[in-house]
Amino acid sequence: MHVTAIIAAGGRGARFGDARPKQLLPLAGRPILQHSVEAFVRHPQIAGVIVALPPELTANPPEYLRASAKRLTLVDGGARRQDSVARAFARVPAQTEIVVVHDAARPLVSDDLIARTVEAAASDGAAIAALPATDTVKRGNYQRLVVGTVPRGEIFLAQTPQAFRTAVLREALLRADREAEATDEAALVERIGHPVRLVDGDPRNVKITTADDLELAERLLGGGPAGASLIRIGTGYDLHRLVDGRRLILGGVVIPFEKGLAGHSDADAVCHAVTDALLGAAAAGDIGRHFPDTDPRWKDADSLALLARAVEIVEAAGFTVVNVDVVIIAERPKLAPYVDTMRAHLARAMRVADGQVGIKGKTNEGVGSIGAGESIAVHAVALLSGRR
Ligand code: MG
Repeated sequence: MHVTAIIAAGGRGARFGDARPKQLLPLAGRPILQHSVEAFVRHPQIAGVIVALPPELTANPPEYLRASAKRLTLVDGGARRQDSVARAFARVPAQTEIVVVHDAARPLVSDDLIARTVEAAASDGAAIAALPATDTVKRGNYQRLVVGTVPRGEIFLAQTPQAFRTAVLREALLRADREAEATDEAALVERIGHPVRLVDGDPRNVKITTADDLELAERLLGGGPAGASLIRIGTGYDLHRLVDGRRLILGGVVIPFEKGLAGHSDADAVCHAVTDALLGAAAAGDIGRHFPDTDPRWKDADSLALLARAVEIVEAAGFTVVNVDVVIIAERPKLAPYVDTMRAHLARAMRVADGQVGIKGKTNEGVGSIGAGESIAVHAVALLSGRR
């Protein structure tokens, strides 16, 4: 089944008091329009996406509308929504069997909802996502007086996507050309007398028309389960041998001791474990990949600088550091007097507050190489939050 998506993004509505059209306002760090376009670009049933835009945007489209894994066509929107959709429809490829129309202002549309709507259109010719009314519905007059109560079971609140067999939408758009404005494509299809199937909508599929909607969408994206969770956890581990003739450096602090840790860099196992935890949380590889010990640049390197560089890498991937926690396992020396200084050094390197860094010292109860004072091991976890 060949399915083409049309994203209606031609509106200039600026109800937010922002100079930009509302579909370009950022949601979780990306324009609302980008979320909506990507939902269809990544969907396995969608062959191509046509976006109807304000003309100034088609003339100079942002990067995410230029580079795409799928066929992405941009058209100038028209005065009315149905004009925008008609212009986009004119570019639908001949082999397309189902056209699915979506409002750019609904950036949280789920893969499932797209699939449900497309499948219902394939069987019934026309289908829209809609939610049953949960509030009691009153009919009122222009004096703001109730003139009746509408049976709630008859009321459904239309969303998009709305999907149609190509021939059905073609006929509806032809008719619409000569008629009054419609607020959605289903209304055009109703006018030609074709039945429209109601598909279970999604309460998360909010339409962003006010600043409150935008805030709600931010919350849904941040805390929701639908692949949008932007909290990431990472773990790191390091162990170095204790040898004569080296300084003992942990967490950027030079600790007076008769031995130090062997290694290519300053062998600061605390920084190394935290660096790996951060890189791991961002799925950005590990310390060996970014700072190979075969590279002379990192010989005797200050591991706090490597840690600072790792923070830059995870930030470039769209994350910020929430907190890190560290366990240092060393039989000797006693680390408690140095813990707060280590925390301050790590916090400065990561550009976070000291309160976001935990460090605990443990002994190994005399067991194994650590217990025998031959090595020191460090475990670390890091939590990142995404800004994408
Ligand atoms: Mg190391």
